[in-house]
Amino acid sequence: MLSEKSIGLQDIQIVTSIEQLNDHLKLSRNSGKSIGFVPTMGALHDGHISLINQSTKFCDITVSSIYVNPTQFNNPDDLKKYPRTIDEDIQMLQEANCNIVYIPKESEIYPGGLKTIDYDIGALADVMEGSFRPGHFQGMVTVVKTLFEIVKPTHAFFGEKDFQQLAIIRKLVHDFQLSIDVIGCTIIRESNGLAMSSRNQRLSEEDRLRCGLIYETISKIPQLMKTMSVSEVKVHIANIINDSGFLKLDYFELADSADLSIIENWSQSDNIRAFIAVYCKEIRLIDNIQVSS
Ligand code: AMP
Repeated sequence: MLSEKSIGLQDIQIVTSIEQLNDHLKLSRNSGKSIGFVPTMGALHDGHISLINQSTKFCDITVSSIYVNPTQFNNPDDLKKYPRTIDEDIQMLQEANCNIVYIPKESEIYPGGLKTIDYDIGALADVMEGSFRPGHFQGMVTVVKTLFEIVKPTHAFFGEKDFQQLAIIRKLVHDFQLSIDVIGCTIIRESNGLAMSSRNQRLSEEDRLRCGLIYETISKIPQLMKTMSVSEVKVHIANIINDSGFLKLDYFELADSADLSIIENWSQSDNIRAFIAVYCKEIRLIDNIQVSS
């Protein structure tokens, strides 16, 4: 008969220093095992867990990190109010069979203080989140590059929820010639279509339900494209969002999925994706959807 231990969950290793992390990974690294990495800022939900599931499916060892990275917040209030649910997060990671969770101290990620790396992301950072959240991507690439250097994964899993981030990470890995396979994972949604996000925890129950309008609206684009020009679709979407009475549009863009260049005519690309950022009260929500190809 199997003992309770052997049929139960493997205990997750909680590490808070590079030294501990190296101790736990030494054997796996030396024996050439694949190490899947899922960086997060915590307040975990099923979107994050879908990334863990991909990692446990494809890799021998799965490492996740929880670190709310100050340098990627362009709004100090957003940083202050970012949900922090560490005990629940560890429980969820344990249940998803994540092997190691790394919860670093700020001094390990930023030994020289909260400075960002000097890396020119290029045009990918000039649009959408890059132009509406100044400094966001510089902070993001800094923490991701540092975490990659610490964890040394063979594979890294990122959500298409942050599609622009995923594109920039692919470029980062390419530019620094890191031997990491970056795997993009589909967006996980709540039952009303709202893309899961840690920030959804800050919405009232009523707002969370009616924010299904965001996905409902962008889902109609493939249909609208048949009769409307790009600028007509933009006006149409902006009107629906701003007339809703509870959402305010930050931006809506149509861009080429590969290089994120902004589309002004449908003929410019056969691989178009729609990107939206809205405010519901002071809570900023983003989503995106493939609309052609
Ligand atoms: P965050 O904790 O917001 O930094 O997100 C950590 C990772 O989870 C990033 O790769 C996100 O793109 C991904 N992620 C967040 N929300 C979702 C979602 N709804 N579906 C899929 N991946 C997600």
